[in-house]
Formats: sequence, structure tokens, C-alpha cells
Amino acid sequence: MNVYLETYGCQMNVSDSEVVRAVLANAGYSLSSVIDEADVVLLNTCAIRENAYRKIYGRLDTLRPLRKKMQTERGRFVVGLLGCMAQNMKEAMFRHPVVNLVVGPDNYRALPELISKVSKTGQKKAQREIDADLSEYETYQGIDPKRFDGVNAWVTVMRGCDNFCTFCVVPYTRGRERSRSLDDVLCEVRALAAQGFRQVTLLGQNVNSYHAKGVSFADLITAVADVPGVERVRFTSPHPKDFPESLLEAIAVHPNICNHIHLPLQSGSDRILELMNRTYTQDEFIRLAKKIRRMIPDVTLTTDIIVGFPTETEADHQDTLTTMQSVEFDSAYIFKYSERKGTIASKKFPDDVKAEVKTRRIVQLFDAQHEISLMRNQSRIGLTLPVLIEGESDKRPGFQMGKSDGNTTVIFPETSHHPGEIIPIEITDVTTATLLGHFLPKPVFITL
Ligand code: SF4
Repeated sequence: MNVYLETYGCQMNVSDSEVVRAVLANAGYSLSSVIDEADVVLLNTCAIRENAYRKIYGRLDTLRPLRKKMQTERGRFVVGLLGCMAQNMKEAMFRHPVVNLVVGPDNYRALPELISKVSKTGQKKAQREIDADLSEYETYQGIDPKRFDGVNAWVTVMRGCDNFCTFCVVPYTRGRERSRSLDDVLCEVRALAAQGFRQVTLLGQNVNSYHAKGVSFADLITAVADVPGVERVRFTSPHPKDFPESLLEAIAVHPNICNHIHLPLQSGSDRILELMNRTYTQDEFIRLAKKIRRMIPDVTLTTDIIVGFPTETEADHQDTLTTMQSVEFDSAYIFKYSERKGTIASKKFPDDVKAEVKTRRIVQLFDAQHEISLMRNQSRIGLTLPVLIEGESDKRPGFQMGKSDGNTTVIFPETSHHPGEIIPIEITDVTTATLLGHFLPKPVFITL
């Protein structure tokens, strides 16, 4: 049978889809990139915001005619929902008439058997199957993910989250924290280096709380950086509470651990941070950011911010703004709060900040961040940065694109170099999100 798989949401889902492909290929399924040829359509979904739900319901609606056609022609057609929305909604997803399979993120090993059950032909009533039990142990050890990208490899090192930020659905859709062993991760990374992957990104919902038999995240990332052939190591997503000095030292000392730290602020107000259960204050966050900039001077700092968390006042919002201005993030993902079913916030705090207030506040934060991002990028004009080429630029024909060590997109006129090569690019111009430059055959690298 042919399986077509679509992935939505974060890098964890991208990585999980690679596991799903491996599980299905090992069981003899073919993977198709053409939906019209598929007997099985799988959507690997996200539950982090309301928008993600709307997108999936919209996509399911578009599958109605295909389902009808395939049922008539072949007598079977499976539409399966995977990922966080599947885990969060469970049987409720069967209310949508095209869905006949629901599988949570810890149950992908069972996919071949479940697909086989729902695709049995000759049944009067369409079969439905669900497997959405959370596991305390599943790390997909022993499964070799089926990857497409030849430059960067996502490597999941831990799953789940124990932090229970009150707005977040992840502890309910991904379960408790569990880490892979150091040996297992290193074995995968060595194989990736041998296959020619130049960059490894260590992934986890709460990646820096990784711990396995006395091995900390700082130990893990150091060991990964020491694997011959690994040119760049990144990690995402961390929590500000788990940044011991040893981790910052590892980043500062190892040239191949990229100087990019994503440090999710969420809010700059102590009152809101407490309601969110973030376990740090504005002052502690700012002090951590300053320490990071002191220890890793050319670090790129990015963040996530939620606007309009329940009860957020104008004063709380101003605290977020001043924190952003004080830290000077290189870029920020800013979202309006949307209530997620099952979270602590949805049970305790009514979503009481008016939509127009959220809009006004988010625009204010966007404007402030644009100014800061532009200023941070302008400070790189004249520098020559090592850039890992990812491919051709989608937006500018005749140009290539790649990533700086700080993970900023760099665009430059086409060279004779190929994806996966790291080449020196002199930065000549910038926008708020992009650095523009040209290849410099004899570079002089200057660090900030
Ligand atoms: S740390 Fe908080 S925001 Fe991040 S996944 Fe865990 S609960 Fe969600």
C-alpha cells in the first residue's frame, strides 16, 4: 500500500515523521509523494495553537472527494491523524467523517498493524482504530529515522515535558520526560556523520533537561560535538530554568556548537510568569540573558512570547516590552494567547483579554522587535561569516541561501559551492530577518 504523509507544526513532528516513515517502510509500505496515488493519507498534527486545529480541519475537508473516489475505486482508503492533535482530541476526531485512524505520538510502532486493520476491504461499516496511550518509556530506540534533508539531521534526544507551563498542551500530548541513552544518541550521530550530514540538531520538548544515567545535557552536547565529521551542532527547545554554567561553557568552548540560543521568555511580567508557572522572574531572565552574552559574546538570542495571557494588564504588557528591549533578542516568535483544551490555564483562567487588545499589543511588540532585529543585523554588516549552504534561494533566482552560525538566513549570489559546504560570506546588507552578502574566497573572520 502507498502511504502519503504530511507534517505540521514543530521540528519534533518533522523528526517524528522520519520515525513514522521508517516504521512503515520496514513493514513493507511504499511512501508516496503524490496524494492521489495513496491508499493511506497520514497527517502528523500540531496542537499548540487554535490556528493549527483550524488548518487540520480545513485539510480534512479537502480530503472528502478523494476519500469518496478511492472508496469507490479501491474499496478502501485510510485517513489517519497522528501527533499532538490526535493525542489531545482522541475519539473526538472521529466526528470528522473522513478520519478512520487516530494515533498518538507514543504509538507509531503500532501503525502498520493499525493501518492493516482499518484498511480491510469488504466490511459494511468503515473500521476505525485509535491508539493514543502515553508511554513513560518510548524513545523509538532502535528505529533508524528515514530522512530526506541531506544537510541537517534532527536527532531527538528526549521526549515529553514535566514542566506543566499552564498554557501548554505538550505535557498532555507528549507525556512525561524520558531521555535516550548517550550511547544510543552517539551511535546515531556517528552514522549521520558517515552519511555526510554536516549539521546535527538535538531535539526535545525541553531539551536541556536531558538526563540519562548521570549524563547531563552539557555532557551530551559535548560528546556529540566531538564526533568526527560533525561540523555544526544545534539544539532546541530549551527552558530558561535549565541553563547551568557547564552548558554555556560547552557552547563557548566548542567552535562547532553553534552560538545560537533560543530562550523562550513568554512574558516579562512576574505576575503573569507566575500564573504561567514558568518558575523564573523577569530579573532572573534578564540576568541569565546578560550572562549568556558575557560568556558567548557573538551569541544569537531568539525567543517566544505570548501576548494576552488571561488577566494580562497594560502594565504586564509593558513589562514584556521592556524585557525585550533590555535583552535585545535577535528575533522573536510572538503569538496571541489561545486557550488549549485540557491545560491548567483553560481550567483556571478565563481567556479574558479582548481580541482587539491582543491585536494592539502584538503589533506593538512586532514593531519593537523589528527595530531591534534590524539593529542587531546591521551590526553584522562588514563581517565575514561562515555560512552553511542549504540550497537555492526560493525568493531570489540566481542566489543561494544558507545559515550563519547564529542560525540567521544568509542570501548570496550563486557560487560553485554545494549544499552542505561551509563558505565565508561577507555581509553587505541586511533586512530584519535576513543577511545579504557575497562569497569571499580569502576571508578574514572577525568575531564580535
Ligand atoms: S517547558 Fe512549558 S512550554 Fe515548553 S513544552 Fe514544557 S510545558 Fe510546554
